Amino acid sequence: MEKYFKIFLDGYYGYWNYLKSEILYPSWQNYFYWLVGLSLLVWLLEIVFPWRKNQPIIRKDFWLDAFYMFFNFFLFSLIVYNSLSNVFVEAFNDFLGLFGITNLVAIEVNSWPTWGQFLLMFLVADFIQWNTHRLLHRVPWLWEFHKVHHSVEQMGFAAHLRYHWMETIVYKSIQYVPLAMIGFGLDDFFILHIFTIAIGHLNHANIRLTYGPLKYILNNPVMHLWHHAKHLPEGSHGVNYGISLSIWDYLFGTAYIPNEGRDEPLGFEKVEEFPKTFWSQIFYPWLRKKS
Ligand SMILES: [Zn+2]
Ligand SMILES: [Zn+2]
Repeated sequence: MEKYFKIFLDGYYGYWNYLKSEILYPSWQNYFYWLVGLSLLVWLLEIVFPWRKNQPIIRKDFWLDAFYMFFNFFLFSLIVYNSLSNVFVEAFNDFLGLFGITNLVAIEVNSWPTWGQFLLMFLVADFIQWNTHRLLHRVPWLWEFHKVHHSVEQMGFAAHLRYHWMETIVYKSIQYVPLAMIGFGLDDFFILHIFTIAIGHLNHANIRLTYGPLKYILNNPVMHLWHHAKHLPEGSHGVNYGISLSIWDYLFGTAYIPNEGRDEPLGFEKVEEFPKTFWSQIFYPWLRKKS
């Protein structure tokens, strides 16, 4: 028990120091400045090439979403979550050790060229995330958490990282074992992380972009706007579940883009009754009135 507590604290202080150095010392390998830089860049694109021309530059919930962005990316993800997950990983390895398993790696990819490892990692992680996202829509108690992300009514880049912190736990827990089996964690490729942030920001941006024929591979703002549409096809739990790639939706028949949908109403039934502030949204899944 003491061992786990120490790992938690080490993780906590380790990441606290890390966060401080991120902010104090800009570099090309620095998440904080990449997030700030990409956000400003995509925001600039929204201002210069707006799709919904009458949407304000500081749209509804802009500052709330900006807060979510830093909370989810740094305060939660890098500090609390990493400390917890170090403990979880250690406990999980101890558990496997009980059965004499010391290594989960099932495919030796270390001998592959870097680009091959990169591609495999990207495809596997994105496919797992696509499945997890479907679960968030289909399992009722998970949907209560995912509603925070879908409570966005005016779409803009900052909505990308507006989500309940439980989503981080759900996504990372589900992908931990499969990724461990191919021998790496998601943070092994800095560039991949930055790429997914850029694509995710663009998916939520107020820009009309579809990437031409690449739309069958890459998720894009037009496709993802329909993911957020208030009115779904009869009997469907959701459409366009793609994170970075759209290919899974085309392969598994969940792609849905009936028209450009520029002014499509967003959210879900009774979205206007959903809590409006950060803490009330965080507590909503536990405190909501059961109906
Ligand atoms: Zn969703
Ligand atoms: Zn979204």
